[in-house]
Amino acid sequence: SKDATVAIIIIGASGDLARRKTFPSIFSLYERGFLPNSLVIYGYGRSDIQRESLHSKILPFINTHQTNESSQKVKDFLKLCYYHRGSGYNDNDAFCKMRESIERNVQNPKSIHYLFYMAIPPNLFATATQSIRTMMKSIPSNQYRCLFEKPFGSDSDSYNQLSTSLSKLLTEQQIYRIDHYLGKDVIRFIPSFRFDNTLISNIWSNENVSRVIISVKETIGLEGRGGYFDEYGIIRDVIQNHLIQIMCLIAMEKPKTNSSCKAEAIRDAKCQVLRDTKKPTLKDCIVGQYDGYLCEELVRTESRTPTYCLIKLTIDNERWQGVPFYLIAGKCLNEKLAEVDIQLKEPRLSFNTQEGLHDDEYYSMKMKIQPEKYVSLGNRNAGTTLKLFEKTRDDAYANLIHDALQGNSSSFVRDDELKLSWKLLTPLLHELESIRPLSYKQGSEGPREVQSYLHNNHNKDMTPKL
Ligand code: NAP
Repeated sequence: SKDATVAIIIIGASGDLARRKTFPSIFSLYERGFLPNSLVIYGYGRSDIQRESLHSKILPFINTHQTNESSQKVKDFLKLCYYHRGSGYNDNDAFCKMRESIERNVQNPKSIHYLFYMAIPPNLFATATQSIRTMMKSIPSNQYRCLFEKPFGSDSDSYNQLSTSLSKLLTEQQIYRIDHYLGKDVIRFIPSFRFDNTLISNIWSNENVSRVIISVKETIGLEGRGGYFDEYGIIRDVIQNHLIQIMCLIAMEKPKTNSSCKAEAIRDAKCQVLRDTKKPTLKDCIVGQYDGYLCEELVRTESRTPTYCLIKLTIDNERWQGVPFYLIAGKCLNEKLAEVDIQLKEPRLSFNTQEGLHDDEYYSMKMKIQPEKYVSLGNRNAGTTLKLFEKTRDDAYANLIHDALQGNSSSFVRDDELKLSWKLLTPLLHELESIRPLSYKQGSEGPREVQSYLHNNHNKDMTPKL
């Protein structure tokens, strides 16, 4: 509530994520009046910087409107931002001193609610969390929460290790795992679009849907993240998290709305999708690597890391039997987009008067997630666009920080979801280690084989075996 006393603490405040995403999202909430009146924001790090230099690091990222009114808000906001330095993320003493400092800077030191945001590399998550535990020794667990940002492991074993170490320190209710796609407007809208709307809920199954294609395409390449990306690849970087999350929301059964906790009901329903999904093998997958990838900085010689991937998944339940879900993601492509394409059955459009239709023309419902936000219904030649969102800035991180402050965990990834999604993809990831990806041109649609694969599968997909 507006009357609460809140301390938001950014661990790793000197870094790139904190500067570009975390501080600006908190500012966006502050600017719109969504934060409590009694608020402090602390940055923690080892860097030897003063409070003023933290302010000048974040200023270019928050002072974007530059009107008189907004510059006053910027000044007021910066007055709430402090920096606390420690010798490391295991410096318990520094963490405890930070708590004392926070208590000195708020009106109600006895009733502070703490939100920690981990903007540090994942190998420091457990160490920093241990220090937070020490710092929060006398504070009940429902008064502090921790936000973590991916990567959450790189396969089943590494995730399970991380999960075990964090679960010794925090309860699941205190852990908020960010998948920033779950903060995006269109994605947040999916449950309501599907379940509050009979027009849609009645067509949402294998009776009417022939196949679903979920795509996240980027025009950019590595952007200086070569070391990280070459180790992870496109499947770990976006498919295991963002695309799988979207698939779960598209495919899940209606969450039990009479359940006492809506967030748990949604996450239970997503977990069931993952349990019903068959493990993909090499024959369900096409991997690519863009031309020139091997010359990028920090990429290993002869690297087999895919920068493009199509995976065909099948969900073995009553609703989706026979409907393939194609997950497609890639870098250095011809377009930047994120969308869900729900293709409807009936390939021959008998009433269509347009000349020159392809024999695989179909009707589809597209949910455009970015850069535009809308839902459209039609075919390649004609259709209707349902504008469901105002052209507002899609501030995924701000939405998520707001949810975490409210204690609403429905848009955060639960431990068992991660275990199940890694279990689904780990065998394929290991199989792919011996596969050389197909090459594709920068700025193209990806490997040529993908278009012919989707085309060849089209007629098969249109007449599902029920
Ligand atoms: P970063 O700049 O490399 O690290 C953040 C801060 O952590 C640094 O300023 C540094 O602070 C401390 N740090 C870094 N390496 C350390 C080490 N080896 N030992 C001790 N402290 C170290 O990382 P970031 O880009 O901000 O990202 C933080 C996390 O979010 C990462 O896990 C990243 O994968 C994830 N993430 C980032 C983005 C993004 O847009 N950047 C997007 C999605 C996910 P001090 O030296 O001051 O202690």
